[in-house]
This record gives sequence, C-alpha cells and structure tokens, in this order.
Amino acid sequence: MTNEEAIRYLKITRDCREDGSVGELTRQMCDKAIEALEKQIPKKVNIDNATSVKAFDGENKVETFKCVPCPICGKWIVKNESTRYCSSCGQKLKWD
Ligand SMILES: [Zn+2]
Repeated sequence: MTNEEAIRYLKITRDCREDGSVGELTRQMCDKAIEALEKQIPKKVNIDNATSVKAFDGENKVETFKCVPCPICGKWIVKNESTRYCSSCGQKLKWD
C-alpha cells in the first residue's frame, strides 16, 4: 500500500459517517496519521524562490547561505540537495 492509498482510506474512515458516529478519538487518530503520511510524500522545493541569507557565526565571521522556503511551512531551508527533510515541520523534500 502506498502512502497516497493509505491517506485515501484514512480519509474514507474519518469521513464515512455523516451522523458523527465515528468517534472523536478515531477522527483525531485519522487526522494525525494523514498529517504524518503527507509529510512523507516528497514536495518539490521551488529553487526560483531562493534568497541569500547572511548569518553571523557568533565570532566575527558572517557567512552567506542560499536559502529556499519550505513548500509547506515557509521556513527557510539552506539550499543543499542532501537535506531530505524540513527541520521545522518535517516535510520530506524533493529538489529536482
Ligand atoms: Zn517546513
């Protein structure tokens, strides 16, 4: 079963009873599982939105990093194709 299929079935489980007879706990559990699975599906990083960020190292050195916004949470990620996940929200990243 792929993550996409699991998400589809979890949404069906969560939404199947319009009368609300699916318990609140089941709904919350499905929402959590969907959120976690969606983060495992790589999202493309938009390199066109890259910007240069200067960071002070605490001594006397200022370094410049190329950064791109996370496609989900928008926090800056240092542009480095070996970075697999956003360190802020955990989203899996795709660079090409
Ligand atoms: Zn993020």
